[in-house]
Amino acid sequence: MSLNETSTDARDHLLINGEWVLATGGAPISVISPSTEEVIGHAPDASAADVDAAVRSARASFSRGSWRRLGIDERADILRRAVDLLEGSVEEVADLVTAQMGLPTSISRKKTPGGVWAARYIIDLALELPKEEIRQTMFGPVALLKEPVGVVAAIAPWNSPFNMAISKIIPALMAGNSVVYKPSPQTPLDAYRIAEALVEAGLPAGAFNLVTGGVETGRALAEHPDVDKVSFTGSTRAGREIAQSAGSRFARLQLELGGKSAAIILDDADPEVVKAGLIAGTFANTGQVCSSYTRILVPASSRQKWADVVVDAARSFVIGDAFDPATTMGPLVSAVQRDRVMDYIALGQAEGAVLATGGGVPEGLDRGYFVEPTVFVKADNSMRLAREEIFGPVATVIHYDDLDDAIEIANDSPYGLHGAVFTTDDHSALAVARGVRTGTFSVNSYIHNVQAPFGGVKDSGVGKEMGREGVEAFYEVKTVNLSSLDPNSLTS
Ligand code: NAD
Repeated sequence: MSLNETSTDARDHLLINGEWVLATGGAPISVISPSTEEVIGHAPDASAADVDAAVRSARASFSRGSWRRLGIDERADILRRAVDLLEGSVEEVADLVTAQMGLPTSISRKKTPGGVWAARYIIDLALELPKEEIRQTMFGPVALLKEPVGVVAAIAPWNSPFNMAISKIIPALMAGNSVVYKPSPQTPLDAYRIAEALVEAGLPAGAFNLVTGGVETGRALAEHPDVDKVSFTGSTRAGREIAQSAGSRFARLQLELGGKSAAIILDDADPEVVKAGLIAGTFANTGQVCSSYTRILVPASSRQKWADVVVDAARSFVIGDAFDPATTMGPLVSAVQRDRVMDYIALGQAEGAVLATGGGVPEGLDRGYFVEPTVFVKADNSMRLAREEIFGPVATVIHYDDLDDAIEIANDSPYGLHGAVFTTDDHSALAVARGVRTGTFSVNSYIHNVQAPFGGVKDSGVGKEMGREGVEAFYEVKTVNLSSLDPNSLTS
């Protein structure tokens, strides 16, 4: 029996100070299958008091507990044990991801093992990174010590629950921080598997705490005065609010926010490469990806040829129940998200853009939150359709006159997360990559690379996740002026 046919995953406890404690909040959150609209599980809606208890436990662990005082090798051993445990139930975790958010099983069964791989990669990377450096200065030797930031509040959205949890929790813990993790209310269930694995692996009490809930729970966590760093992934709206409260107390911030990324197609591009890039980069995950290419910039002189390629990419999906192995595109995560996407499709038409494909509910899929992959043409970059993040399978084709015009249009956006160029000319590829103002960029591809830093500029956020920079983000650098000390006495 698949998880969308059952409703047994009821959770009413939070992990606080190493104990599974009953939440004190109100009615539990119902987790709904976006494929069937049935309730498939529950999780607590943690109150501000629950959040306070979790943060206090993390603070006590950081100030007096053993986790940060262990050698990094010992931390790695415990986390590796947890990752081994997760690997043992990786198919079950993948099915939870599919059941909660509608990611087709054909994808989640590959992506979830990728998260396990990423966890091991992050552990190895954190072990390798130098933890101290001696610099000679005019005042004598100086030691730069990398120390954990302290209590980390990690808050995640629903569009990649397991892998995103890994990319926040593992580097934060490897650095010796204590963590309070809050998953999205749409996808809280797989986080319990991570918490159980950490407990079973022997993580000391308080080093990792799990609270579930919605906006109010997140707010109580992000605004808690004893949180030293907020690692947040989610909407620009929430990120802005968090930045204001964290800024007022100088808490460290890592914000991975929204996007409206442009793929610039040059006329010499290979149509097959473009199509593959858009299948992966525009419509995958039903378009619920922050770094999706949602603005497709094509030469005015050949706009029809390239619009046909975009339409071809959109029509290449098999849409259906996420647990059907043949499905390559599942539903949107919720009724709210489906309505939001449909509202944008109506808005695009009202603004004068023309539907080239899609725009409705796929035939025979009235139950579940399905929307057809949709392509708009005859659109302008000034339309709300082209400026606002939709977070669904909706691409807007916009034409440009020359390369400078293309770069200008790509940069004319409040966001700056990702972008791409498709061309067979290396020189043009690099010129465009340099010209577009984003935190991440891809050439002839769509790549989500855990081995390289990822993050945005402008309204897309602050800081980097993943890669070496993503691990270093969980450390503070302390400068110690050694003066009379022998620098060799420091090397541990
Ligand atoms: P959201 O901002 O509504 O919620 C994200 C998380 O924050 C949830 O756990 C939510 O409960 C919590 N939250 C909401 N408001 C909060 C507040 N004021 N204070 C503290 N916590 C709060 O986002 P969503 O709808 O769950 O996810 C979609 C958004 O996430 C999109 O905008 C997408 O672009 C973005 N996203 C960004 C990246 C990235 O790496 N840049 C990756 C994935 C998703």
